[in-house]
Amino acid sequence: MVNTERDIIPSQVKPYHYDLHLTPDLQKHVFSGRVWIHFDVHEATNSVSVNAHELKLLKAGLMGEKGGEMRKAKETKYDRKKQVLETVFEEKIEKGAKGVLYFEFEGILNDKMAGFYRSAYTDENGAKKFMAVTQFEATDARRAFPCFDEPALKATFSITMQVEKEITALSNMNVTEMNDVGEGKVDVVFAKTPVMSTYLVAFAAGEFDFTETETKEGVKVRVYTLKGQKELGRFALDVGAKTLSYFTEYFDMPYPLPKLDMIAIPDFAAGAMENWGLVTFRSIYLLFDEEKSSLRAKQNVAYVVGHELAHQWFGNLVTMDWWQDLWLNEGFATWVGWLAVDFIFPEWEIWLGFINDEQQRGLALDSLRSSHPIEVPVKNPDEISQIFDAISYSKGASVIRQLVAYLGEEVFKKGIRSYLKKHKFGNAATRDLWKSLEETSGEPVEEMMKFWTRQIGFPLISVREGNKANEILIEQHRYLSTGDVKPVEDKDLWFVPLGISSMPKTTQNSNLLTTKSSIIEISENIENLKFLKLNVNQSGFYRVKYSDSLLEKIKNNFSELSKFDKIGFLADSFALAVSGNISTTKPLSLLNLFSIQDGFIIWSEIAQRIQSVKDLLWQEPESVKSKCNQFIQNLFGSIYDKLGFEFNKSDDDLTILLRNLAISMAGKAGHPEIVEKSKIGFNKFINGDESALHPSIIGSVFSIVVKFGSVVEYEQVLKIYKETQIQDRKLAALSALGSPKTEDLLQKTLQFALSDEIRSQDVVYPIGSVAGNPYGRLLAFKFLQDNWDALYKRYYGGSAALLGRIVQACVQDLASDDFIRATEMFFKDKDISSISRFLQQAIEKAKVSAAWLKRDAKAIESCFK
Ligand SMILES: [Zn+2]
Repeated sequence: MVNTERDIIPSQVKPYHYDLHLTPDLQKHVFSGRVWIHFDVHEATNSVSVNAHELKLLKAGLMGEKGGEMRKAKETKYDRKKQVLETVFEEKIEKGAKGVLYFEFEGILNDKMAGFYRSAYTDENGAKKFMAVTQFEATDARRAFPCFDEPALKATFSITMQVEKEITALSNMNVTEMNDVGEGKVDVVFAKTPVMSTYLVAFAAGEFDFTETETKEGVKVRVYTLKGQKELGRFALDVGAKTLSYFTEYFDMPYPLPKLDMIAIPDFAAGAMENWGLVTFRSIYLLFDEEKSSLRAKQNVAYVVGHELAHQWFGNLVTMDWWQDLWLNEGFATWVGWLAVDFIFPEWEIWLGFINDEQQRGLALDSLRSSHPIEVPVKNPDEISQIFDAISYSKGASVIRQLVAYLGEEVFKKGIRSYLKKHKFGNAATRDLWKSLEETSGEPVEEMMKFWTRQIGFPLISVREGNKANEILIEQHRYLSTGDVKPVEDKDLWFVPLGISSMPKTTQNSNLLTTKSSIIEISENIENLKFLKLNVNQSGFYRVKYSDSLLEKIKNNFSELSKFDKIGFLADSFALAVSGNISTTKPLSLLNLFSIQDGFIIWSEIAQRIQSVKDLLWQEPESVKSKCNQFIQNLFGSIYDKLGFEFNKSDDDLTILLRNLAISMAGKAGHPEIVEKSKIGFNKFINGDESALHPSIIGSVFSIVVKFGSVVEYEQVLKIYKETQIQDRKLAALSALGSPKTEDLLQKTLQFALSDEIRSQDVVYPIGSVAGNPYGRLLAFKFLQDNWDALYKRYYGGSAALLGRIVQACVQDLASDDFIRATEMFFKDKDISSISRFLQQAIEKAKVSAAWLKRDAKAIESCFK
């Protein structure tokens, strides 16, 4: 059970301004600082508590608002567990007064990617260098300076950084003064920020290059990179400027700061962080080489930039009250991030991609008992850090999309605008958003949405013919991928927008199902319909099960479904097979209904689903695995036959992506021609002919040649990893190292994963790749256990979520009762406080697969004949 009490600091005083001076030492990896925290007294007190973590306190005192003599603290008490520093004074400070807390402190520029930390890199001349950067969300501003580290305790910040003259210092705001302080150092003074939350404060110091542009509204946008890499920031710069203008219009509110910087950080635990005015990125999500990077990398950059810039309003300007409402930030930024990409790149069919990506990810996690409601009580840093997951992001965005479909986008936009106006520079809770949307739409938004945000899970809607010729019967039950919903778990109801579409007449009705079951009249007799499908355009966050006869109608008229409906129908069918509602033969028999015309995104869904079947069979006899591979070769070989290996200048983006998908899927399954062409292309490529491989297939080719090659190809790919400066290529090479079939190479990859040649943020790539390989899965599982202490030491107390991902990768596909027991035994006496959710979810996924395999192994095999 999660305790609903929050670990928050006492509320006698509230901060309203911070003067913060910091001096990082990039050589010694330490920093010193001074902070003056101006506060109002709400209740008379003789002690003030602030958050602090891993800081050495040198001095603590209290001053009047206008300065004056400093009263030294009588005593300071530190609660390490709660990360709270209490400063006690001789005399009481009276209610209504103002005061200034003063702290002098020192800290370490740590290597844990949390708080104020160091990131290492090799400069243009081959010298090892460091930069100092920050990552404060959720609760790590307290590692950089004592502060009231809660999102609702907003204040203004005046920041000064003292650095060497050749170092560039950046923060949320623009520089107003540079004061020479002697000994080769300068004080860089930044303008005062608007009121904001501590987790959005940021600073960076290092040797940077930048490119810049200005939006049409006059906001200066820059992309900062390492020296010599500024051209790699051009694409993000262009997308950033366009996106900023787009959101200015969409939210009907100017970007609130004078400048926006985006910066690539070599060591970065998350994907990116929306710090107001100084957005930080993992390099792979900001840097893009027009000539040499893959299209996938380009799409990722576009999306991540869109997502982070959406936060400048949604999250930064209006902030959640407490982390329980994290989804308000993340669900919304995710939805609106896709919106921005669609605006700039309409040719990418991005909303179809949303179904395949975001919506399915949300449904998959929310199908587990170990999921959680979108609005989830969290009390402390361990709990807070574990809800940055597919529920807050993907389910959050999906239920927003569902609401947008129901209300209409214009009405929704109006509501959002009014919400932002009402709460700007303040905090808000979920209810406040619903209120604004209710005012603009006249609909009972909260009444509808509470089912989706306060309850765990989502419904499975089953539909069959009723007693009358024009009636259908609809029921809703909780869906679990374990397929064993107990009566007590099936008490919840959802308000479900049914979105019924039927052919030949399309009666798109947005009726809400508000009861456990219902009889619905259709304007036509069912037998006259070509088909009847629920959840039109897949706008609802639920799954649907049809009666056999309704299912046949859909199959017989499949080509008339929209792409959205095709992808949803396919995904639902596979999910129902996983949970045992139907046999896996049913979704597998659907696959011959698809053709090349369905395009990349639908084929991505097919690829993911068939991959999950392939993953399931990892312990089956070679004969079964080889039949599965043959099936995949045939399926994706048919696409490859039409598109070929070579690229044409006239290819559009989705064709490029589809060709790569076909090469990757069929090639890894052993398609002889693709394997051969991959080897030839790879050889030319490593001999200096870059044009032999299109950037978008390089990753697939690396994996194919490592899988079907020898130690020679393995070493060549390893060399590429070590030498290339192109981020997506580097990571593609790293992942490919998990593809071999032989134990010695797989062990080599696992050992390499913990070497100092791989950044902590990237360790999951090789380990996850070995775990994803049927020949490596057990090795990865054993490696996790053998190296637990080293992994724990590296990630705990900093970026435990990265360890959570490694654990998930090693456990979730085990699909065997014995290994699940072994996992539970292993973790029994381990400290899993910061990864408990990740572990639970991975174990549950493994259980789901084990049950699926037991039930359907034979049926699956019969489909591969
Ligand atoms: Zn975000």
